[in-house]
Amino acid sequence: MERIVVDRHLDAGFKYEIAERPGGENIRKCFACGTCTAGCPAFHADHEYNPRRIIRMILLGMREEVLASPAIWLCHQCYACSANCPQDVDFSHIMMAIRDIAVREGRHPKDRLSRVEEITLLANEFRRDCIKLLTGEDGITDDAIRERVEKTIRLARNGENDDG
Ligand code: SF4
Ligand code: SF4
Repeated sequence: MERIVVDRHLDAGFKYEIAERPGGENIRKCFACGTCTAGCPAFHADHEYNPRRIIRMILLGMREEVLASPAIWLCHQCYACSANCPQDVDFSHIMMAIRDIAVREGRHPKDRLSRVEEITLLANEFRRDCIKLLTGEDGITDDAIRERVEKTIRLARNGENDDG
């Protein structure tokens, strides 16, 4: 039997709010094929983060759940979803809009975006150094890599208690 969602907290206007944002124009064209999720590196690292599911939540009007979710910070902003979507849904920009709204409405700290960007940069540098170790390039030391990892952890921990 088809399940009907009835919830007085649903916000039917949320999809229109997102559609008005740059990149959000095509969100209602999503037909839930899952191509975005299949190619998403954040999904492959953590299945709690699922672009197709987030889009369904937006279309259903689950505004509070989406904006308050810690998972919205797992997106790498890599644009793979936007590039591969057969319906031209630009989910990468939709995720930017969600983060922007969430911060403006005080659901997440103002510096969250800059911290996430710094962590992403450090993580990419960590990966680069490990690949250079793997390929035998000179000039990469274990200590330099450990220092980068510790810096990343400090950056993440300094922001761990500032939600709300
Ligand atoms: S790839 Fe596009 S159409 Fe398919 S689920 Fe993702 S957003 Fe929807
Ligand atoms: S931009 Fe975000 S949601 Fe899209 S594929 Fe990359 S990590 Fe996944």
